[in-house]
Amino acid sequence: MDKKKVVVTGGTGYIASWIVRDLLKEGHEVRTTVRKLKDEEKYLHLLNLEKKYEGTLKIYEADLVKAGSFDQAIEGADYVIHTASPFSVDRHLDPRKDLLEPAVLGTINVLEGVNRSKTVKRVVLTSSLAAIYGDNRDMRDLGIEAFDESMWNTTSSLKNNPYSYSKTMAEKKAWEIAGQQDRWELVTIHPGFVFGPSLSKRVDATSIDTLRRLLSGAFRTGVPHLEYVFSDIRDIATGHIRATFTEEARGRYIIANENGSFLKMVKIIKQYYGKQYKLPIGKVPKPIVWAIAPMIGLSRQYIKNNVGYTLKADNSRSINELKMSYRSLETTLIDHIEQLKKDELL
Ligand code: NDP
Repeated sequence: MDKKKVVVTGGTGYIASWIVRDLLKEGHEVRTTVRKLKDEEKYLHLLNLEKKYEGTLKIYEADLVKAGSFDQAIEGADYVIHTASPFSVDRHLDPRKDLLEPAVLGTINVLEGVNRSKTVKRVVLTSSLAAIYGDNRDMRDLGIEAFDESMWNTTSSLKNNPYSYSKTMAEKKAWEIAGQQDRWELVTIHPGFVFGPSLSKRVDATSIDTLRRLLSGAFRTGVPHLEYVFSDIRDIATGHIRATFTEEARGRYIIANENGSFLKMVKIIKQYYGKQYKLPIGKVPKPIVWAIAPMIGLSRQYIKNNVGYTLKADNSRSINELKMSYRSLETTLIDHIEQLKKDELL
């Protein structure tokens, strides 16, 4: 493959780190952005990659909410992979200021930079399954077997699943801006709940924090029956890179594989590690979760519409068009736990 200039936003992040590393491995010239260059402890893994792949990784400073912030990194690039966006379900956040604004303004700022660049041919945006569906029960209400790329989240709002709302609004804005020109194309990637080994020792990414809490006893008394569709971090990086370089790639791609719940994760982990970790001891019945919801930072509406419902996603577009093959949840979780152990984070 020809060597290309690819921008990856949010290089400090869990997902972006793998995209940066795989692009470098394939021989491309990578420009990545971090929120503050002075916060080197957030991107020690990038500094290591910078040494390993001498002269091919450049690190720029850019903030999602600052107009023009990404222009320098984007100028002269062939492709942009826009991954930076806040991913948090922390109940203490101000949903507008901490989620919606950075997600949407960030998308506008990056895409306006792309418009000014005159060189970018394609933008790959990290959206989410959260932009495809709002609540797990939507699948049953729609009478469908699985969600697919033709669907949009219509039920989230600043009050109900604000993170999902931020992803939906950011993606809609991206399609709107892309539709106003015809020099560059937009392709969007829709991961499920991502797990798998991290390239950095940071533990604040929601995926990493969730697994560490599951292992450390935070949910010891039990977990609700909440289903997800899971993605492996390495498959997510591959999906972004194939969506960038596959000439025929178009539209939206679900990059996710196995469905399941926290209970399925627990079963897998127990099989490998026995009693090593303080895993949840069972399932908390829905009426109890409903009763205690406000105390654990969840709305009763969320419990009502999500607990106990099956969730599935159709990944056939990614298999047919991006030639994706997927790791099992078992491989993902074991590799993730081994990385956490190796890095002394458990
Ligand atoms: P991380 O929290 O690890 O990464 C988020 C990235 O966004 C970080 O680099 C962060 O920078 C950056 N960021 C946030 N706010 C700003 C800002 N104001 N200015 C500049 N950069 C900012 O999360 P993930 O890697 O998991 O998520 C990356 C993307 O993938 C997000 O778009 C998320 O919505 C999406 N996604 C993730 C899934 C998952 O399960 N992990 C599932 C589906 C989609 P900093 O390090 O400085 O905070």
